[in-house]
Amino acid sequence: MSVLSSAASDQAASSTEPLTILQDVFGYAAFRGQQQAIVDHVTAGNDALVLMPTGGGKSLCYQIPAIARHRAGKGVTVVVSPLIALMHDQVGALEEVGVHAAFLNSSLSQEDTQRIEREMMAGRMVMLYAAPERVTNLRFQAQLASLHERGLLSLFAIDEAHCVSQWGHDFREDYLQLSMLHERFPDVPRLALTATADDQTRADMIERLQLQDARVFISSFDRPNIRYALVEKDNPRQQLLRFIRDEHDGDAGIVYCQSRKKVEETAAWLNEQGISALPYHAGLDSAVRQKHQDRFLREDGLVMVATIAFGMGIDKPDVRFVAHLDLPKNIEAYYQETGRAGRDGGDADAWLTYGLADVVNQRRMIDESPAHDDFKRVQRGKLDALLALAEAHDCRRVRLLAYFGEESQPCGNCDNCLHPPATWDGTEAARKMLSCIYRFWQHGRQRFGAGHLIDVLRGKQTDKVQQYGHHSLSTFGVGADLSENQWRAVLRQLVALGHVVAEGEFNTLTLTDSARAVLKGEVNLTLREAVEAPRRGRATKSGGKASSAPADLIGDALSRYNELKAWRAGVASEHNLPAYVVFHDATLADMARISPQSLGELGSISGVGAKKLEAYGEQLLAVLQP
Ligand code: ADP
Ligand code: ZN
Repeated sequence: MSVLSSAASDQAASSTEPLTILQDVFGYAAFRGQQQAIVDHVTAGNDALVLMPTGGGKSLCYQIPAIARHRAGKGVTVVVSPLIALMHDQVGALEEVGVHAAFLNSSLSQEDTQRIEREMMAGRMVMLYAAPERVTNLRFQAQLASLHERGLLSLFAIDEAHCVSQWGHDFREDYLQLSMLHERFPDVPRLALTATADDQTRADMIERLQLQDARVFISSFDRPNIRYALVEKDNPRQQLLRFIRDEHDGDAGIVYCQSRKKVEETAAWLNEQGISALPYHAGLDSAVRQKHQDRFLREDGLVMVATIAFGMGIDKPDVRFVAHLDLPKNIEAYYQETGRAGRDGGDADAWLTYGLADVVNQRRMIDESPAHDDFKRVQRGKLDALLALAEAHDCRRVRLLAYFGEESQPCGNCDNCLHPPATWDGTEAARKMLSCIYRFWQHGRQRFGAGHLIDVLRGKQTDKVQQYGHHSLSTFGVGADLSENQWRAVLRQLVALGHVVAEGEFNTLTLTDSARAVLKGEVNLTLREAVEAPRRGRATKSGGKASSAPADLIGDALSRYNELKAWRAGVASEHNLPAYVVFHDATLADMARISPQSLGELGSISGVGAKKLEAYGEQLLAVLQP
């Protein structure tokens, strides 16, 4: 795109052609994947359900129709979004590219609310963001009706649409009310978007939002730039530290933990180790949460240690890794959480460490939840699929995609593809273990936990062995040939497969009915050897922490990049917006590589639209001056 003369600029500013809008407003050369088809379909006034992975580019799927339809005189697009906290940045990003947008939520003063409502009612606004409870309240419904009467209600975009389904993992009561949009305004097109949905959730979403007549656009769920690795727990803190130090020094990342306590402890510990980390969980004061989230979005290279309370709607593009210290509930949750890495398309890691305790905990959480049996059954099935992924010896991505109904070939970018794990036949070992648990019961009507069980199998003379006379059991010492780790892997499998349950305060072990088939040797158990996750093998940059710049930027280009980043930080803080809203890292990297010397050259860089060129062009050329 060249610099636009003011006449051409006026023309571009009034174009309703989606590609022109993409190029002129957003500065991107071409649509990605199914974006074009979706945008055309919705701009023409049809309903759609869009399933696209995180980072796939969902926002443009409603933003461009909203702009095109607004320019065609159709009025305001209402964007339903679950997270009040993030509306500010989304709206800020639109205003940065010159699109008039606003949000309505409880954080606004009465004055601001009234001003925004006036703008909306006049149809001047292109997009209005609001939470579901706002959209469905009486006052807002009356405003929509008035807009509608005057032909100024253009489109409904429902983001994170999986929240409407109880099968999904983010169910929100107020999403159920959204079916009223269709009932009250049947002729206003609707677009529902989500990054996560298995078949069941998908069907549920269509029914509850009454999208039976909508066209469904399903993109590939693959995120090829994310490398998946699931490793066995063995001193998880040290594993995490090594992972961050070796592969992500100075990078922004998220570490998920299950409990609030563990979040606090892990964040404190990382800080002691010299890694800047912030805690985030629902037990923190909301002001603290907001502050930590803002810092994570705005500062470079922070690690957020969080429960799953953190993350939905976080669209920070340069998160370089997502690490899990505890097992998520299921594959949808895992995929959505890991999907927050690498939205900008650059290399990113999804790293998870799991052990026996995770398997036991997740099983117990389901068993002890107050939900009805049907629900528990579904949850168990979902957990099983995740455990199978964790224990898999073959391509992780093939399994992940298969879970979402997609066929694929081994990816070459997961731990198992890069370093195929050795396997061993654990069938005999499993029989020994089960029979040992059985003997405990036979011997003294007692149950024991994993530690003692493994001691007995390995023939260790401990006080406890003496106390219970377990050295006289026929299974004492029959497993001396295997390491403690190998035995843990066997037990983990047996628990994962439901042949053994761990109960009570001490996780004592009990056989289930299905254990019989294993004892009889009717079930084969192939186990993976414990291996460390492969390294990415990045060239270590001199100075380590200083810069997480793309590896190809060296010499002058690297100094240009750093100067551009410093300039961007200034603009971002002046506008109170995250740096990536001003320009993405990738856009700055291109500028540093190409070193444009005219507005024309600058405008041809991906991510530089007309408004940004006008606002920042001269400043950038000054920064780039040789
Ligand atoms: P999603 O909401 O699906 O997770 P986003 O809408 O946030 O994804 O888009 C992810 C990133 O990709 C954003 O930074 C966006 O600007 C960028 N992007 C989207 N579509 C395109 C495109 N056609 N060309 C270049 N970049 C794009
Ligand atoms: Zn693979």
